[in-house]
Amino acid sequence: MTHLNSAVRLLDAAAEKYGDKTAIVDEWGEISFNELRKRGYALATAVIRATEADYLVAPVMVYLKKSISCPVSFMGAMYSANPYVPIAYDMPLNRIQKIIDSMMGRAHIITDARGYENLSGLDLPAGIKVHIYEEIAETEADEALVEKTLSRVTDVDPIYIMFTSGSTGTPKGVTVPHRGVIDYARWVENTFDIDENSVLGNQAPFYFDNSIFDIYSCLLTGAKMIIIPESLFLFPSKLPEFIRDNGITTIFWVPTVMINVANSGVLSTVKMPTLKNVAFCGEVMPNTQLNIWRRSVPDCVYANLYGPTEISDVCTYYIADREFADSDPLPIGRACENMRVIILNEKNEQAKTNEQGELCVIGSGVSLGYWNNKEITDKAFVQNPLNPYYTERIYRTGDLGYVNDEGLIMYLGRMDNQVKVKGNRIELGEIENAAMCIDGVNGACAVFDDKNQKIVLFVESREELRLRKFNTELRKYIPAYMLPSELVVMDKFPHTANDKIDRVTLKKSLQN
Ligand code: AMP
Repeated sequence: MTHLNSAVRLLDAAAEKYGDKTAIVDEWGEISFNELRKRGYALATAVIRATEADYLVAPVMVYLKKSISCPVSFMGAMYSANPYVPIAYDMPLNRIQKIIDSMMGRAHIITDARGYENLSGLDLPAGIKVHIYEEIAETEADEALVEKTLSRVTDVDPIYIMFTSGSTGTPKGVTVPHRGVIDYARWVENTFDIDENSVLGNQAPFYFDNSIFDIYSCLLTGAKMIIIPESLFLFPSKLPEFIRDNGITTIFWVPTVMINVANSGVLSTVKMPTLKNVAFCGEVMPNTQLNIWRRSVPDCVYANLYGPTEISDVCTYYIADREFADSDPLPIGRACENMRVIILNEKNEQAKTNEQGELCVIGSGVSLGYWNNKEITDKAFVQNPLNPYYTERIYRTGDLGYVNDEGLIMYLGRMDNQVKVKGNRIELGEIENAAMCIDGVNGACAVFDDKNQKIVLFVESREELRLRKFNTELRKYIPAYMLPSELVVMDKFPHTANDKIDRVTLKKSLQN
């Protein structure tokens, strides 16, 4: 296969080969590979014309409701030789402002009329160019201009920047190269036998890296991607019917959604004859619910994929080809193609079999670091301590694990205050920082109640605070999925001997 300088070349090839075949479907319509390419070119033409020629990249923030217009905009960004930055449509404006600030005055924003209105309250430097999607989609494409611009891209340039929770209160922009996504798409194609007859049922929001699986395997193979209406996820028992009625062959969902479907009982009644691959990633998948799926749809490939946003989606996988007892841990398996995982113990040496250590990742999918933030990049992306010979960057995931006797990697949990709630990655520090912005709050400490899988926010305050009203204030700074489920107000926090907030005591108080 020819060497590609940009993942958008996959779309060029798909348009050539599959032409008017449907590429993406949403609840409002569909788009063919040809049309996707054409509109991508139109958007790119508008973006290139609005870009000053003297700088390297001007990220394209895509602030749109989830629909076909999002992938179209991603293609437009790539054709314009810029990385795209998916922004959740319901992201609080304070958080969007922080992302805009990190762009150092040079970026594009593609949005719609409502988004445009929302942005009017923000501080937008002159170099931040706002485009209305419907308007620039009508631009007459300048093919020569786009081709000339695109030809300067190399496969180690950024394809996207995905912002994930940051413990200091500022989201971290993970900057991923084209090469990682291209390699990953090929791995997905081979591992799950994706071809032009496949139909992918997309659940992942486009601002989560799980969506990379769906978008790029579709572009690579000519498969169809159906964006499942977001509202359907509120009614998990309806999802199997949707899979059946739309002939979906492959799903890659967060375990929370799979659990909700299994718990609804619907799997014993609705058959899904077309379903072939059920992959999941993002948090621990409990065997109880996985076994319910397996018994209902026995002929599927079930795959536990593992990877942080800092990798082009996934770096290890395990095909779960048998039932596991409820209490048995499900392996995260082995490294994907072009990826390697090493486990470093406390001495920074390679952990032995069954010895616990930090999972560290090497390979083409490792991101370039955090956008415009050298300090945190240098902490997490470091020289491989096992390699004294040449520069080899590894990403320290902060996840604990070990390799078992069968050579399979097992996941043990986090080393820090990062948690997962319904598949969403949350730094407890981000919630605390947001709480500190609210009047009357003298201290804040967020803890995760493991038993009930919920976030409890302890607040030091002399005022009487109520959860619902407090969360309305918090919502100005953090996304809805980060809001605490419980608020505990205290006059004074307990402190440790070295005067830090005593998290352990606060967490213990939950068990009482
Ligand atoms: P995110 O950056 O949102 O993809 O979250 C990455 C984190 O989710 C990882 O560092 C893990 O802690 C957790 N995670 C991802 N995949 C799995 C998995 N298959 N099993 C358990 N935890 C996972």
